[in-house]
Amino acid sequence: MRHALRLTIRTALAAATVFAAASLSAQDWTTTTDTHRFMEVRNGIWLTQTTAQVFNSNALVIVNDEDVILVDSHVTPSKARDLIASIPAITDKPVTALINSHYHWDHAHGNQEFADIPIIGHEYTRMKMATGAHEEPTYQRGLAGNAARLEQLAEQIEAAEDDEERAGLETYRAMFAAHAADFDEIRPLPPDVTMNEKMTLFRGGREIQIIFVGRAHTGGDAVVYFPQDRLVFTGDMLFGGPSFMGDGYVDEWSETLGNLAMLDFDLVVPGHGPPLSDLSAIEKSQEYYRVLWEKTAEQHAAGVPAEEVPGTLDLSGTAFPERQPSEPEVQRMYHRMENPD
Ligand SMILES: [Zn+2]
Repeated sequence: MRHALRLTIRTALAAATVFAAASLSAQDWTTTTDTHRFMEVRNGIWLTQTTAQVFNSNALVIVNDEDVILVDSHVTPSKARDLIASIPAITDKPVTALINSHYHWDHAHGNQEFADIPIIGHEYTRMKMATGAHEEPTYQRGLAGNAARLEQLAEQIEAAEDDEERAGLETYRAMFAAHAADFDEIRPLPPDVTMNEKMTLFRGGREIQIIFVGRAHTGGDAVVYFPQDRLVFTGDMLFGGPSFMGDGYVDEWSETLGNLAMLDFDLVVPGHGPPLSDLSAIEKSQEYYRVLWEKTAEQHAAGVPAEEVPGTLDLSGTAFPERQPSEPEVQRMYHRMENPD
């Protein structure tokens, strides 16, 4: 049963996420609670993830001399409550502010659990969360993904070869169904403190810079930079490979990453997956977005419909030749080509 369940969970994760980032091995995590694991990436700065086998994002817990600041609030209010309940495992200092890296649901739909403290984000993040956040195509695709996963699990249970396998799948389905139901209580809460270019927080001996280095993954990605620790949290602007581009600015992404690279850091915590110390990911990503934009523009100019583009682009000159854009990503690029601003 164990084996079957492991395979099922792996399939679930592969299906649920476009971020195929490698997972961290158990010994990298220094503290674990019933719901969360924590890793101190630099002096008092902790990367944390839920241990639940669902699509989720990284959060940072910044433990300062007298208080705690969080970056990103997880995927649902329920997962945010789990995070709040787990923080005492690493510190008893109070959480005094939350920073949003961007507006996407998997990073910001736990916000409502932080209604009593300042929530800091880019102006664009506030605008997106304050107007029609529930109707956002990327959020709607997340909901559709949950429904599809439940359907797929029902089929797998039907086809299970023995009682043990079936019982394992039933347990996973019960957990996943509860997680999907958690989305019903989401009431998007936008940042109530906004920044445009840069904001700096001084907390005890720590300096925390919240910087907009340009449009990339969304129109208002804020990176959180710790100059003393040479660390930057990039949200979904930078991973080891290309990011989700369905709300992105592929035409500007390379330049934005060039601006990011001008900061002095040697460790990146991305919005999903493990920390990156190999900074060649920046140049490789820059090249990928440049080539992708160019190749997609050729298709656009030739009048090829967006739905016919995925799978056809020659990206062999890049570090990620297999990473074809999805249809929503091509549509987004076509939209940018037709509506430049
Ligand atoms: Zn995102």
